[in-house]
Amino acid sequence: MPISRIQLSEKFMIKVYVFHTGRVRVDQAIPFGDKNPLAVTGLFRGQDKKLRLPVSAYLIESPEGRILVDTGWDPESGKKRGRFLGIMKAISTPIAREDEGVDSKLAQLGLRPADIDEVFLSHLDLDHVDGIRLVRDAKRFRASAEEIKDAKENPFRYDKKEWSDVTIEPFEFQNTGIGPVGRSYDVFGNGSVVLVSTPGHSSGLFAVKITEGGKYVILAGDSVYARRSWEEGLLPGLMADREAAEKSLEWIRSCAQDPNCLGVFANHDPEIKEQVIEMGKNELSVEDRLA
Ligand SMILES: [Zn+2]
Repeated sequence: MPISRIQLSEKFMIKVYVFHTGRVRVDQAIPFGDKNPLAVTGLFRGQDKKLRLPVSAYLIESPEGRILVDTGWDPESGKKRGRFLGIMKAISTPIAREDEGVDSKLAQLGLRPADIDEVFLSHLDLDHVDGIRLVRDAKRFRASAEEIKDAKENPFRYDKKEWSDVTIEPFEFQNTGIGPVGRSYDVFGNGSVVLVSTPGHSSGLFAVKITEGGKYVILAGDSVYARRSWEEGLLPGLMADREAAEKSLEWIRSCAQDPNCLGVFANHDPEIKEQVIEMGKNELSVEDRLA
């Protein structure tokens, strides 16, 4: 359903649009783990173990600029399924309608990819970079140096063909004391949008902390999959570093319990709908895009 773009006002300084670029069909062991180490592959597992989860991407509009976090699915990928190789492609099935690509979501707001100042990739797994070609005209693309390094060294998990249309530049987390490992990157240099290193699911993964008027929201990326993850202590099924993943989960939980935290949004949480979060000095408004 088309929505109209709302101008930033005195009242609301930052807007965060939560887009769903389709869904992913996976074994439930991917988001919530399983005792059986092979469960994540979905092999020999019944239909009752399959989940359909949203694949999110986010537009953040602030007076300093317009950034996109992740790019979700390219709707074309559903059709090319037979060609998929590699671990991630084998275990996650894309489901996306023609009009669910991130370019269509931007167009609904009257925006073109060239209007995006920067695309930050939380990590380089397929369901986060697949839509990159749809926004190849954005001004700049970045991911953490750790993630880019890992993607080069691990061709079974990462497929660099996915981002062959663009150059993804590395950024370095600084030692700031922020987050589970005390490392973060301040996008605008004013503390409003901070990429917080949350390693575990992948080495270079980040969550986004968006702050206005002393309150903040967290876009948790894949450091957790859903509210259940931090409430029940469920680690993701696929981890580059288990100990780091535990720390990151603990940090997300502490944010969720912080009275200054207005919400934690996990990328694949089935309870999170498409919505617009407007953050002002003294107010927060959450508008359900599908209402
Ligand atoms: Zn993901």
